[in-house]
Amino acid sequence: MGRAALGGQPLGIFSKERANDPGTDRLLANLVQLGNLLRSSPDLLGVVRSIATGAARTFGFNEVAVYLAAPGDDLFHAHAVAGRDEVRDQAILDTPVPAAAFGALMPERYQIGCAFFVDHHEHRYTPEERALFLVPEPIADGPDDPVGRQSGEWQRGDRLLVPLRDRADRMIGVLDLADPAVRALPTLDLAKELEVFATFAAAAVESARQFEELERTTGLLEQQLKVRHELLDVSGSLLSTLDPTAVFVQIADALKMLVDYDTIDIALVDESAYELVTIFAQDKWANEMLKFRQPLDQGVGGWVVRHDQPQLVNDMTHDPRGVLVPGTDREPQASVLVPLRFMGAVIGLLAVDRLAGRTFEERELEIVELFANLAAIAIRNARSYKEMEVQASTDGLTGLFNHRRFQEALALEVARAERYDTDFCLLMLDLDRFKSVNDTVGHQRGDEVLRDVADVLRRCSRESDFAARYGGEEFAMILPHTDIDEARRVAERVRGQVADLSAIESGLSVTVSVGIASFPRHAGDTGGIIGAADAALLAAKARGRNCVYTFGDDEEPSAGLAGQTPLAALGQRFALRAGLSQGEAVALAGALHVLASSLSSPSLAVAAPAPGVGGAAPAIDHLFAALLYGTERWDGSGYPEGLRGESIPRVARAFAVLRAYSHDGTDGGASLRAEAGHQFDPRMVNRFLAFLGEEASRWNPLDGVAAERG
Ligand code: GH3
Ligand code: MG
Ligand code: MG
Repeated sequence: MGRAALGGQPLGIFSKERANDPGTDRLLANLVQLGNLLRSSPDLLGVVRSIATGAARTFGFNEVAVYLAAPGDDLFHAHAVAGRDEVRDQAILDTPVPAAAFGALMPERYQIGCAFFVDHHEHRYTPEERALFLVPEPIADGPDDPVGRQSGEWQRGDRLLVPLRDRADRMIGVLDLADPAVRALPTLDLAKELEVFATFAAAAVESARQFEELERTTGLLEQQLKVRHELLDVSGSLLSTLDPTAVFVQIADALKMLVDYDTIDIALVDESAYELVTIFAQDKWANEMLKFRQPLDQGVGGWVVRHDQPQLVNDMTHDPRGVLVPGTDREPQASVLVPLRFMGAVIGLLAVDRLAGRTFEERELEIVELFANLAAIAIRNARSYKEMEVQASTDGLTGLFNHRRFQEALALEVARAERYDTDFCLLMLDLDRFKSVNDTVGHQRGDEVLRDVADVLRRCSRESDFAARYGGEEFAMILPHTDIDEARRVAERVRGQVADLSAIESGLSVTVSVGIASFPRHAGDTGGIIGAADAALLAAKARGRNCVYTFGDDEEPSAGLAGQTPLAALGQRFALRAGLSQGEAVALAGALHVLASSLSSPSLAVAAPAPGVGGAAPAIDHLFAALLYGTERWDGSGYPEGLRGESIPRVARAFAVLRAYSHDGTDGGASLRAEAGHQFDPRMVNRFLAFLGEEASRWNPLDGVAAERG
């Protein structure tokens, strides 16, 4: 033992004789204070400072340094120094000591109880040790003369080291005591008291560390819970909205709470322009960002998208990849940039920035990544919905708009034309004798013909025109801001080009009939305009097909034949206008005459067919059909046979409409419209209402009819 150097004089600062002196009281008081600190779990630094000042006060040292081993590190750092010279204290704090250097100062022979007395006479400090422990240079012949110890006195350069050990007996720190007020050499009693103190101190350090660790993990858990909560919230809106901006705003709010950025923006990759286009930006520079299109081969953003790798850049101004957004200031900026990915492809970028020198931590990048995923889903959702919408509004065979979209577009066009007081034309097209086209070339080739016709419609459409497949082999075109003459030219072009299709293949004969109606001239609502175009289409068919016919294009309608009732005359005019055959027209007039006569007069007079215009079937057959099947219903629930839809003879469908009109004529067509698709053929209703509208512009069609009804 190195006690020999002490000259065998164990002169303790705290000797047994002085057990009741104020020093012992101070030890107890300081132990109580340490115990309190331990219970109230203050921060580690507070604990270590209490240890340093407590040890200095209790044991009467003018310099006490508390070293702690950094976890997982071989260095001991002084965490607190209770000394008299601030500069020296700071130097001690700033000089970490390797574990091995402490080892060299703690050989067994220096040991007194739990402590190690480093006698500068016995321990010749190496220059490195002098630097590490800030040992003062010895002064020859002075009180710390390195040559000979004159008395049993503590000298400059002596120190007492007390290890702090954890429960597993690992040295977690060292108390370094120097420059005692009473210059007596340390005794075993002092060492024992220091041992009690050191045990307490080590426990306090351990406990403070555990508490700090607990606080850290609690903080992390709280943060994770918060992140999870916000993620859940945003996912909720992902399910409830298709508006990506609404989701972006929520993501911005959530991120603001979690990573407290200064600015945020979201950009999308524009593949065709090879650029990043900002679609969302908030806070400072938002307007400049929204105007900004960044080439993909520039900027950190471009790098992130090209490499599909997130980046945390705490000094953006000095990043060689950085570019300055036009209109913004060059200022300290830290950024986290995360690629937005969907199905393995990078579709954009989410970036958050901190200005004025604030930086980001790695942990925060992870949080931004989580929310970037949701932003990507929001964008995808919106895109797929748009794609779905396109699918839902297009006809699969021809790629033209489908019936549903046509109805929407027509309603829009009517509303627009009404609002701006303009006109438009509607073309209804039906391929001629398409059944026999199918029969000769097969259904599949028939489908190809339909596609070819769709191409013709596309070729003949202007930018603002709207072409749709109305159903089967029927098509429709809406021509906004178009008068009848122009519409006729378009229709003729279509008709001609469809007819040209026949030239491609021998045996193939494709032609189309076209009906034209003009808004508001021929009708003032969607049903009416469809009815008018449809009636014109039928008239085109009746005129031999492969032709264009405009609603109301015929000569002045005859006022009715001699002896005809006004209702019969109306029916006959309608039949001719709506493209029914002469035979059907005569039959319809006859059936209405029977009806009118049964209401008012017993006489029966059926007008004879006009000479030169022959019906395909004898009028009498049509008359029977009208009378027999006039009580059938379009939906199949009528009598006598429960016929449905187009299997009810056309003349009977027309008769049913006119008969109902003769009952309810004054209600402006409301009851007819209400029963369209149920009792009546909806197209026949539309044709009839369009016809009535046209008639009304010439005279009041109800004149006389009302009289007939009596
Ligand atoms: P019309 O000149 O009077 O119009 O005679 P049409 O034979 O064309 O008669 P209609 O318009 O009543 O018949 C339509 C036919 O078109 C019935 C059906 O065989 C055929 N068709 C309807 N849709 C399709 C389709 O998608 N593909 C094919 N290949 N044929 C269709
Ligand atoms: Mg058809
Ligand atoms: Mg047809």
